Amino acid sequence: MNKILTKNLSKQNILIDNHGRTINYLRLSVTDRCNYRCTYCMPEKMKFLPKKDLLTFEEMDHLCSLFISRGIKNIRLSGGEPLVRKGIFKFISNLSRYISNGDIDEITLTTNGSQLKSFSDDLFQSGVRRINVSLDSLSEEKFNQITRRDDLNNVIDGLEAAKKAGLKIKINTVVIKNKNLDEIENIISWSHKNNFDISLIETMPMGLTDKDRIDQYISLSDVKSIIEKKLTLNDSNYKTSGPSKYYRVKETDGLIGFITPLSDNFCSSCNRIRLTSTGKLYMCLGQNNNIDFRNLLRKGDEKSLNLAIDSAMKNKPKSHDFDISHKNQTPAVDRHMSVTGG
Ligand code: SAM
Ligand code: SF4
Repeated sequence: MNKILTKNLSKQNILIDNHGRTINYLRLSVTDRCNYRCTYCMPEKMKFLPKKDLLTFEEMDHLCSLFISRGIKNIRLSGGEPLVRKGIFKFISNLSRYISNGDIDEITLTTNGSQLKSFSDDLFQSGVRRINVSLDSLSEEKFNQITRRDDLNNVIDGLEAAKKAGLKIKINTVVIKNKNLDEIENIISWSHKNNFDISLIETMPMGLTDKDRIDQYISLSDVKSIIEKKLTLNDSNYKTSGPSKYYRVKETDGLIGFITPLSDNFCSSCNRIRLTSTGKLYMCLGQNNNIDFRNLLRKGDEKSLNLAIDSAMKNKPKSHDFDISHKNQTPAVDRHMSVTGG
């Protein structure tokens, strides 16, 4: 199915949206399903997308090929928990042909770490070199309260396996006011001691959970001030294709990133589009407008698919409207982060 697309790849294609931003980064949610139920992400009784609506991996490969032919240089696989979908390693290995021929720079993955003990070697062999692992607490009790699963030691073993497999690791930590704020310095020091970078993330109002986000949200500018009472954060020029603003911690010589969608909006430099596991393309994590690529793909109409990408560039919103300022607030968007992939 992808032979023709592969032949037609043109390096001159660059995606630029209506606000002058170059779009070169695709996030793909390979499944919205997850074995955890993090309290800021989804409720315990989560309703997932119908399995019959999922794109096959062959269809995902076709769409990735199309986006790469139009200028996408980085692909991050996410979810839900991407490593719970069967067949993912074959999918990544196939997609890695675009790393080998220089059309894309890398394929990365965000995971909750629960499957790394078994699958780190497969991940490395399929072509992934960098992963983000979400870890919000080093206390078993708090880890259970946040993820609603008793799995901290498995994740720690998984991180060890990932390190041994040769994967470069960044820890992602959502700072939760009423839960892990008091252990943030400890998580930073622990990450750096293990040679992991770390990014802190503000909780975002996406989808209903069974918690009130105002009890969870804290601005990372406040968190930074708290951290700076104990650690020295020096400016750093380090940059990835993601949204983190990085500092180097003097005491540990490690990197810490801050992802601040609410307290310091970074939409003006957004380079991302997001494809769901059912083939909907969202041009903004925090807005609802989307384009259904699955229907166009199944009609077999390459021209319409390309026109849909042009339309996506015209309609990419300028920014999200995230706001967490009062109790019982309706989330900015109905869908959970797991649908569009964090
Ligand atoms: N399951 C994988 C994981 O947890 O890493 C990948 C998907 S998860 C949706 C991706 C990232 O989004 C994780 O780092 C997670 O902590 C973060 N996340 C999920 N819901 C969020 C929310 N409402 N606000 C901020 N970050 C969120
Ligand atoms: Fe699952 Fe990741 Fe959401 Fe946690 S943050 S419930 S691990 S998708």
